[in-house]
Order: sequence, then C-alpha cells, then structure tokens
Amino acid sequence: MNNIVADMLPGSSALTSVSDSNAIRSRTLKTSIGCSGIGLHSGAKITMVLHPAEAGTGIRFRRVDIAGGGAIVPAIWSAVHDTRMNSCLKNDDGVVVGTVEHLMAALAGMQIDNCLIDINGPEVPVMDGSAAPFLFLIECAGVVELSAPRQAIKILKRVSVKDGDRTASLTPSSGFSVRFEIDFASSAISRQEFFVNLSRGTFKSEISRARTFGFEQEVAYLRANGLARGGSLDNAVVIDSTGSRVLNDDGLRYPDEFVRHKVLDAVGDLYLAGAPLIGHFHGVRCGHALNNQLLRTLFADQTAWEMTTVAPGSAAAPFAASSASGAVAVA
Ligand SMILES: [Zn+2]
Repeated sequence: MNNIVADMLPGSSALTSVSDSNAIRSRTLKTSIGCSGIGLHSGAKITMVLHPAEAGTGIRFRRVDIAGGGAIVPAIWSAVHDTRMNSCLKNDDGVVVGTVEHLMAALAGMQIDNCLIDINGPEVPVMDGSAAPFLFLIECAGVVELSAPRQAIKILKRVSVKDGDRTASLTPSSGFSVRFEIDFASSAISRQEFFVNLSRGTFKSEISRARTFGFEQEVAYLRANGLARGGSLDNAVVIDSTGSRVLNDDGLRYPDEFVRHKVLDAVGDLYLAGAPLIGHFHGVRCGHALNNQLLRTLFADQTAWEMTTVAPGSAAAPFAASSASGAVAVA
C-alpha cells in the first residue's frame, strides 16, 4: 500500500477603465456538474456539485451536510484560517471548507467569477492532486456570460511579505503573470524557477496538470497531526526518503512539475482575493500562509489597489483568450 504524503472583496466603488457596455462580462457555469473523491488531509469521501450563480455571488461554498439548510462559506481571503499544507476557509459560525486552492485555481483559469459549490464534507476532494479534473468539470458544464461586467483588482503599487528566506510580492503589470522559485535539498527537485503570463490562456496547458507533492518521510508526522490521511500515489507526486527518486510509476507530468504546482497553488490562493488580479506575483519558496498574508497586506493598504472593469482584448484582460476548448459554450 502506498501510504504516502504529500503537500470580501474589500469594499470599493472605484470602477475605472472602460464603460460597462464595452467591458468584459462576468461568467458562470452553464449548468450544474459534480464529482466525488476523497479529501487529501481528512481522508473522507466527499461529493461536490458546482452550480451556476448570478453576478455578484462570487465563489461560495455551501456545506450541505450542516443541518438547517446548509452553511455558506465564502471563498475569500479574510475567511482563510488555516494554511498548514492547504488553504482552509472558516465562516463566522466556525464551519470549514479545506484544501480549496486547486479548485480555486481551476475557477481562476476558466475565468469563472460566480459559482455556488455544494459540498457534503469539510474538504474539497483532492482528485488527482492537480487542477485538471476541476478544469474538465467546468469545460463539460460549459460557461456563460452574465450581463454584469467582470471586476478585477488592479495592483497600483508593490506590496510584499517575508518570512525568513520566503518572500511573496505583487507589483503593477498590464496583465496577470506569476514567477515562482523553489529550492529543495532533495535532488529530485533541487532548484526550479518558472514564469507564466496567464493573460494568454496558458493555465490549462502549462499549469493545470501539475500535482501536489511531498516526501515519504513526512507521512508519519503529517498523519500524527491529522493531515495527509487521504494522500497516496494516486493524488500526489511522492519523493522517496533519499530525496532523489520519484516513487510514482509514471514519473512526472512536466520535468519541472514541482514548481509548476507551486504556481498552481499561488493562482488558487490569489483567486481568494475575490476577483482576478491585474498585476505580477513573484513567490520565492512561499506557500499558502505567505500567499494569504500577501492578500491581507494588499487589502490593508487602500492605495495599493483599485477595482476596475476591463476592455475586451486589452493586455489587462485577466486570463484573456482563455483555454476554452470546443467543449465550452460561451453564450
Ligand atoms: Zn497544491
């Protein structure tokens, strides 16, 4: 047996850039679609259904297993309460939804602004450890435009956070791009750096299939702390105790799958801003904790950002020219 491991909107009325009639519209799913799987950390079997939602809804979870009609848990930076090995949300009543980052990355990559996600347990199913299964779900459901314009968060000045040798920053840019650097003692990972401009529809091909990863020897510690109970070679890349060998029979999906997964996590964590970002993210060895701290630092400074609508075809169109395939119907 492969017992392994792994890994509100702040108020602003400042709309700028273009008139509403000319702006890119916000999007939601065309129809409801669901999946079932296990939670990476809880090990629980969980069913999740993504529903279309009207403009202004944002991304929200609804814990349907909570008595009294379900509990709403908003997917927003201010609701993030636990960042150990995953990004976990908690609402004011203490109801949690964990491991949201890979689903959030898929919603960001598919430019879904509004979605209600019914879930019957405390954690988003891990599926294969990447964002690809969620991207596939959204493509199967199809995507429709709503009448309301999409709102994006434009970075106006540099903000950064630091924790030892880990750093994360956001700087002004005409589109949305991510640079990530990691440096592990493990020779299977070592030093990796990746840059991607997500304004050109590259999320699906370059990032979405990168899986979460971890080390064989971390298993006992994580499980003792209630984590990685559902982790296996089916949903994580695992490196052996020597640090030099990937245990998965099929090897890696990309030669630098590790750093690409860190990009995926950052895209998902940053989508908890509540809208797409127009700016450049640079992460060095950082993870969920620093990603969330970066958003808290950004929104604490009203002069560092503004809400904006975006003209079609402009360089600032977040995730413009998306990876929408033939399976996606854009009304
Ligand atoms: Zn991840």
